[in-house]
Amino acid sequence: MGDKQGFRFHGGRPSVNFTATVGERWRDGGFERVPDPAALGRWFTAAGLTPEDPPCTAADLTAARELREAVYRLLRGGTAGEDVATVNRWAAHPPPVTTLAVTPAGLRARPVPASVPSLLGLVAADAVAVLGGPDAARVRECANPECSLLFLDTSRAGARRWCSMGSCGSREKMQRYRSGDR
Ligand SMILES: [Zn+2]
Repeated sequence: MGDKQGFRFHGGRPSVNFTATVGERWRDGGFERVPDPAALGRWFTAAGLTPEDPPCTAADLTAARELREAVYRLLRGGTAGEDVATVNRWAAHPPPVTTLAVTPAGLRARPVPASVPSLLGLVAADAVAVLGGPDAARVRECANPECSLLFLDTSRAGARRWCSMGSCGSREKMQRYRSGDR
């Protein structure tokens, strides 16, 4: 179904989307969507957090994965002190600078090239806002058992079941159709 290795941005927030850089977590650890430092740089750009891939080192990648897994465990309801400390340590980094640009559509915020520590600072600060506020109660896991990505359910009823209607939602509909359960 599409590009399995491709990044997923159905989470609604940068910190939630960052946890989706591990796919199929249900499958014995899942698989990495950021297998190397360059892929991590591409993720930041694809996420719209910076206009160009930041230079990434192997140490950056290790730190990013450490933060990502701490955020993931906390989003799943964990409260481990070391995970909280990891998020807080990164949240203390100043986030990237954003500037105002005049565009044909009016004024728009534009990110400027940023370093990995500042981008991880942004992700961590976003995690603090999600985990420490009312959105924490809206974190869901996709109902497709072969997906299990996390997302923030911002629907009014709070009854969204899939990371994406276009992929996992339609897949379930198709299966119900095939099994005659309509
Ligand atoms: Zn899904």
